[in-house]
This record gives sequence, C-alpha cells and structure tokens, in this order.
Amino acid sequence: MGYALPMRNYDIIIVGAGHGGAQAAIYLRQWGFTGSIALIGDEPELPYERPPLSKDYLAGDKSFERILIRPAAFWQERAITLLPSTRIAALDPAAKTMTSADGQAFTYGTMIWATGGTPKRLGCPGEGLAGVHVVRNRTEVDAMTAELPSVRNVVVIGGGYIGLEAAAVLRKFGKAVTLVEAQNRVLSRVAGEPISRFYEAEHRAQGVDIRLNSGVAAIEGENWVTGVRLSDGILLPAEIVIVGIGIDAATAPLQAAGLASANGVDVDAFCRTSDPFIYAIGDCAAHENAFAGGQRLRVESVQNAHDQASCAVKAILGQPEPYRAMPWFWSNQYDLKLQTVGLSVGYDETVLRGDPDSRSFSLIYLRQGRVVALDCVNATRDYVQGRKLVEAGATIDPDRLADTSMPLKEML
Ligand code: NAP
Repeated sequence: MGYALPMRNYDIIIVGAGHGGAQAAIYLRQWGFTGSIALIGDEPELPYERPPLSKDYLAGDKSFERILIRPAAFWQERAITLLPSTRIAALDPAAKTMTSADGQAFTYGTMIWATGGTPKRLGCPGEGLAGVHVVRNRTEVDAMTAELPSVRNVVVIGGGYIGLEAAAVLRKFGKAVTLVEAQNRVLSRVAGEPISRFYEAEHRAQGVDIRLNSGVAAIEGENWVTGVRLSDGILLPAEIVIVGIGIDAATAPLQAAGLASANGVDVDAFCRTSDPFIYAIGDCAAHENAFAGGQRLRVESVQNAHDQASCAVKAILGQPEPYRAMPWFWSNQYDLKLQTVGLSVGYDETVLRGDPDSRSFSLIYLRQGRVVALDCVNATRDYVQGRKLVEAGATIDPDRLADTSMPLKEML
C-alpha cells in the first residue's frame, strides 16, 4: 500500500528553474515579498545559465560553478525553497494544486509557469541511439563531452544557433564536422540572407561541411550511432550526432488543464494567463510583442525570460506595468560576436551597413520603412546606437543607414 505524501503549501510556486524562474524568485525577494516561495525544477542542479552550454561550457572554458545563476547560499539566505529533480505533471487550477511525476502534491496562492521548451525530435529511425545528443541541459552536455575524446566525425543536424555554436566549438576541438540544414540557408528562422551567407562562408572557411536543403532519413547504427542517412541517400559517417532543430514550448500540464494553446501559453501584457492566479514567462509564453508590431509570439531568449520575470513579479506585487522590453540576443562563434537588437519578424527590406568581407558589418531590418532590428557582427557600436533607432521606430533613408561614415546615433 502506498502512502500519500503530505500536501505542501507555498504562497508562490515557480515551475521551471531556468533563467525566467530563477529571476522571478530573485525579483520577488529583491522587491520585498516576504511570503513563502518554492522554485521547482526538473533538473538536479542549482539554477544555471543556459547560453554557455553551446559556447564556453561546451568548450571547457567555463566550469559549471561559473555558470550558476547564484551560489547555493543565496537561495538559502533568502528563504527560497529549491525543489530540484521535480517534474510537475498535472495541475488543478480550480483547486490551486499541482502534482509532480513522483507523486508530490503542492498548493499555491500564485503560480508562475516558466518551464521553457523541450528540444524538437527528428522523428526518424535511429533517433534514440547512443551518441545522439541535444544541447539543452547540463546533463546532456556533460554526457556528450565525456564521449568526445574518442570521436572523429560529428554530424550536426540543424543550422540554428545551437547547431552553429556547437559546430564552432567542435572545430576548435579538431573534429570533422558536417552540418545538415533542411532550409536553403542557415539561421533562416532568425536572420536575413546576408547574415546566413556570411556565417555559412565563415564555417566553411573553418572546415565545416555545410549541407543545405538536406533532409534526414535515418540515423544509423546498431547500439551506437555510426552515421546519418540523408533523404537523398548519402550516408554521413558520425560517432556523435547533435540535434538542434528548435524547441517546443513545455506546456503539457497547462494544456491538459485547458490553459495553453498549440504554441505555448497565451499571456496578456502583464504575463497573466487566462487564470488570474497563473502567470507564464519566458520561452513558453506567447505574448503580443510591441517590437513585432503587436504580433503574438514566443521569444526564445534570456532577455525575454528576465524581463518577463520582472513584468510578472511587478503584477503580483500590485504594481503592474505592461511588458515592453527591447529584445536583444547574442551569439559567439569563432572570433565573431553577433549582437541582435529588436525583432526582425515581418521585415520587408534589409540594408547592409559595412562590408561582410571586413568581418565587421550590420544588417538593418525595416518594416514599412521603419527600423525594427539590427544584426551586428563584430560591430558593437552599431548595436548600441541602433537600439535607439529601434526604440524610436525610426524612418531613415536606406542610403543613409548604409553610410558607415555616419554613426547611427546621428541619424535620429
Ligand atoms: P532554431 O533556432 O529553431 O534552429 C533550428 C534549425 O534547424 C532551423 O533552421 C530549422 O529549420 C532546422 N531544422 C528543423 N528540422 C530540421 C531537420 N529535420 N533537419 C535539418 N534541419 C532542421 O533552434 P536551435 O538552434 O535548436 O535552438 C534552440 C533554442 O535555443 C532556440 O530558442 C534558440 O534561439 C536558443 N539558442 C539561442 C542561442 C543564442 O541566442 N545565441 C544559442 C543557442 C540556442 P526550420 O525553420 O525549417 O524548422
């Protein structure tokens, strides 16, 4: 006979201990909340930064301790109860209760859902073979790192940030890297064509074999992966495969409770779901973004996770301010620093500022004549100054934007 675990009650339960969830707990205490807080995460670790997983942490340049969001003592001193290795499996919003996969039960006053996303699966034969990895959490990256010394050939599936950043690190390790992208260019979801072509050329110059317009038919091997079979029949040898083909919002329990849609959970300008006691933030929160012309979308970035944490906490503390944070991103590959400000969704014109051959340039995105975003490659000044143009939704003649003799700050 099993014993029911006692129900634990917290004033605020945050589900998801990534950037958004951890930051929400930090803001709650920083801004004076004195009630009880539980931060529930399904990983065994203290909350840590995810971007280094495909950059410095994978490269071995940063230890795990250095990517912790806060040291262990911080959470203790602020009476934030961390509940690691706990996966919430079901919710009852009417009763304000939730249960974990291992049978723990909780009640809450207010809940913040900050579970981020789950890596998409290829859905092809062989996907479950040993040696096939995603880059989403520490355990996965540690497992891959342990295998790397005996590996010569790596196939990376997906030419998004994960795939490209991982490819750059693996070339540094001297691995033979082939990158397979379904679209006709890398970074197609997030960047304009000149950026894609530039990064393809850089990776090829570094020795990455990039295969565009390539589908994956199967991952081959007996127990361990030996290769990737493309749709056109070509077999790419591989002892390790990295799959970085995007994420799905992790909202299954919310969906079962009738709170989520097919693409994440809809929230209002204060990060509230349709249930007044449940907020949602970060990668999984579908919100109307002012920098996307009010379009409802999910923004998968650390900036968005942090700023939505701030927005939700202000609303919970009775000082609501609508979400209107400037989007920004970054990506490090080789000696290239890409910095993005704004959201390029729905752009209808681009302006190239500077010469990609100089390896320092920017791509400026316009929507109906207004500057909506910039991708700046080794061009931090444009990034800093361009931010003001995006903030203002500035209308500037494309010839002026392209004129590198004139700083962007003088164009407003
Ligand atoms: P992503 O940005 O969505 O890119 C995945 C790429 O893989 C897309 O171009 C996608 O094309 C392609 N793809 C999809 N299915 C494929 C298939 N079967 N075979 C080959 N290619 C396929 O996702 P990600 O790179 O996996 O990154 C995951 C998340 O981490 C994202 O939220 C990303 O922004 C974040 N991240 C960000 C950074 C950064 O900001 N520096 C770094 C690492 C990770 P389709 O568009 O056709 O699906």
